[in-house]
Amino acid sequence: MVSRPAEFCPYCGTALESITLEGRERTRCPTCEEVVWHNPVPCAGVAVVDAGDDPAVLCVERGLPPGVGEWTIPGGHVEAGEEPAVAAARELEEETGVAVDPGVLSIVDATTLPPRDGKHVLSILYAVDRDETDGEPRAGSDAQAARFWTPSAFDATDETFRPVHEERFRTVVDRFR
Ligand SMILES: [Zn+2]
Repeated sequence: MVSRPAEFCPYCGTALESITLEGRERTRCPTCEEVVWHNPVPCAGVAVVDAGDDPAVLCVERGLPPGVGEWTIPGGHVEAGEEPAVAAARELEEETGVAVDPGVLSIVDATTLPPRDGKHVLSILYAVDRDETDGEPRAGSDAQAARFWTPSAFDATDETFRPVHEERFRTVVDRFR
């Protein structure tokens, strides 16, 4: 499996050929005689919510491409053999220093994100109340800032969200209001 369309076999390096299989265009290695599947990459994230009349969500400002300077909900790739809730909690702690027990996360949604640079992502989003977490947010790996935003505070700035994350940010806020 590759995250971007492959031109060469990841196992033997032979140039791949295009075939049509089950009505979709696929790439196949003529040497290994195997299809090289192009699948979405699974990612998981968690929205930590400071609940109340005006709920705020812990967000990070991306420090690495793609989308440097865009705000997003903490998250990242699920490792092989890792449960998605464990991945979400791990990424949260790496990016913000805030720790949470994966067992207390509740799922918000699972969705396919619009591809960026040919990379397709399947994203699983969790949410948790801030009271269930430990630690004050500080920017960690991949992040240049980490802080709680309410929609009204965010709207009063010229900061930007990656659009798909803004939609989820507002969905989470509505759920905790
Ligand atoms: Zn091959």
